Formats: sequence, C-alpha cells, structure tokens
Amino acid sequence: MDILLIEDDTIEIMKLQRTISKLHLKHKVKEAKNGEAALEYLRSGKCLPDIILLDLNMPRMSGIEFLSILKADETLKYLPTVVLTTSENRADLLECYRIGIAGYVIKPLKYEDYESKLHKVLSYWDINELVKA
Ligand SMILES: [Mg+2]
Repeated sequence: MDILLIEDDTIEIMKLQRTISKLHLKHKVKEAKNGEAALEYLRSGKCLPDIILLDLNMPRMSGIEFLSILKADETLKYLPTVVLTTSENRADLLECYRIGIAGYVIKPLKYEDYESKLHKVLSYWDINELVKA
C-alpha cells in the first residue's frame, strides 16, 4: 500500500519505517510533517495514498483540523484515515469518529507492542478493497 504518514515527530516516523522494514512489508511510506504539508501533497495531483495514518498533536494544524478539511473535500474524503496517537482523551476520540475515521489506535510506549499493533493495522487494511484514485 501507499501510506501517507502525517506526523511531526521524527522518531515516530522512524518507528513506522523500522516496523515496515523489519517485518518485510512492502508498503511505501510518504511523510508529511503537519496537516498543511499533507493537504498540499494530497492536492498536488500526485497519486493519492491508499490509507492515511494521522497523528493528532502537531504544530500549525492539529490532526482534528486536518481531518475536518479532508472530510469536507469531495475527492479526499474517501481516503481511509487511521488516527495514530498517544492521546487517550475521550473528547478527541469522539470528535474523530464524528468527523469520520477508519480507526483510532493508541500508540503503545514499548516498541515491541507498537510493532505488533501496527502490523495488525496494516494487515487489516491490506486485505481491504481500497479506493485508490
Ligand atoms: Mg505529534
């Protein structure tokens, strides 16, 4: 799959890449450091990702703001977006499901747990029919 990871923390970006290479998965990860950069990329006319993995706490534009703009866009609203966050805030969780997400995953602190959780998320999406524009 083509994955768009929207995440401001370089360590988190490396963690996902490490997981994918360690598990010998063939997914391609494109990174965006914040919501604005992600929207710019998605609207650039380049090929759209199969899924989006979205952090919530980011500077400039929060994940929730990004999600609202994405879901109001006639083309981009179909992209399955899985929130990947450390926020256990119930208000965030409810707001994300209200706007429209494909999943809400709390990032475990331990790397092994992270790897196993992410493996499940990616395997699940890999067997789905994807919109892919
Ligand atoms: Mg962050």
